[in-house]
Amino acid sequence: MKKIRTPLLLSLILGISCFSLDLKAQSTERNQSLSEKQQTLIPIVAYTAIGDLQNLKPALNNGLDAGLTINEIKESMVHLYAYAGFPRSIRGLNTFMEVLDEREADGIQDEEGPEASPINDGRDKYDRGVETLYELTGSNWGKPESGYGAFSPAIDTFLKEHLFADLFERDVISYDQRQLTTISVLSSLDGVEPMLGSHFNISLNVGLTPGQLQEFVSIIESTLGEERGDVAQAVLNQVLENRNSEHYNMTSILPEGNEVTGGNFTGTVWVNMIILPNDHLNTNGGKVKFEPKARSYWHTHPGGQILIVTDGTGYHQIEGKPIQIIREGDVIKVPPGAKHWHGASHEHSMTHTAIGPNLDKGGVEWAEPVSDEEYDSLH
Ligand code: MN
Repeated sequence: MKKIRTPLLLSLILGISCFSLDLKAQSTERNQSLSEKQQTLIPIVAYTAIGDLQNLKPALNNGLDAGLTINEIKESMVHLYAYAGFPRSIRGLNTFMEVLDEREADGIQDEEGPEASPINDGRDKYDRGVETLYELTGSNWGKPESGYGAFSPAIDTFLKEHLFADLFERDVISYDQRQLTTISVLSSLDGVEPMLGSHFNISLNVGLTPGQLQEFVSIIESTLGEERGDVAQAVLNQVLENRNSEHYNMTSILPEGNEVTGGNFTGTVWVNMIILPNDHLNTNGGKVKFEPKARSYWHTHPGGQILIVTDGTGYHQIEGKPIQIIREGDVIKVPPGAKHWHGASHEHSMTHTAIGPNLDKGGVEWAEPVSDEEYDSLH
């Protein structure tokens, strides 16, 4: 689970311009087993990524025979340069050209397939990359405040603008084909297990099933050998275990999102922003889970707030009034400008969907923490 710092959350609530949540698979192929096209794509990418051009040739023939179009294969080879570099991609494309020439000489007519539609999106490319990442991960990846992206803003920019905007916006292949391409490259390379884990997760988010990923690992093993198969298997096992742990509910339409650390909350709080203010609704929304005793700082919403309690028992207090006990099913309408706090009860967690309307009046204004004395004043 990725941890984010509260300033990021704050900037979110204050209103980064973004998009809508759509974790639905782009693909219509929801079979439990990989299609023949998907199966044959994996060795094509793996051999390209390691530069095994001799084995790449029959792999390309298999893919074309299975119905992959020329443009689909071309796009996977373009996509993989983001992970394996231009030299591997270019050698792969050269080999692909040879294979196509040979097939043409044999009288085989391969389908070209559709090309990428033109992009007519005038919005900032960085924001578009962040939007794609949100679609893929269900989490916000705004400008980083720590980690490699803060250390090297250049790579953060290139990653978001180029990989997640320029490449991902090309509609020649679907997100699940891109993900199959990505995990095929990452399974072929040494020392990139954390990225392989992230991309197994994204693959599940875009509609590939655990069974299909298991099949993927078997194909990696038969393509690249037992050692690489074992690494991919270990990473996949860890990913599936984490997704089944208490803080990740695979069956939920709204995963718990990111743990918020420090800043404007006391205790352990999970946030998944589900409505980001990119449209004309002037509204944001997030699923927020407070572990027992966790709570927000005192704060006000200039545009008011609606809290819909979906699980557990918690507290809500408007300044000058007694603490109100809130339970699953309760809907609290907080007036604009009312100073308040909300959180879990002493013994139980509390999950609510927090909706921030009228954002044109301003985002949340944070104040001081809720002291233990204030929190305990119920009793
Ligand atoms: Mn509030």
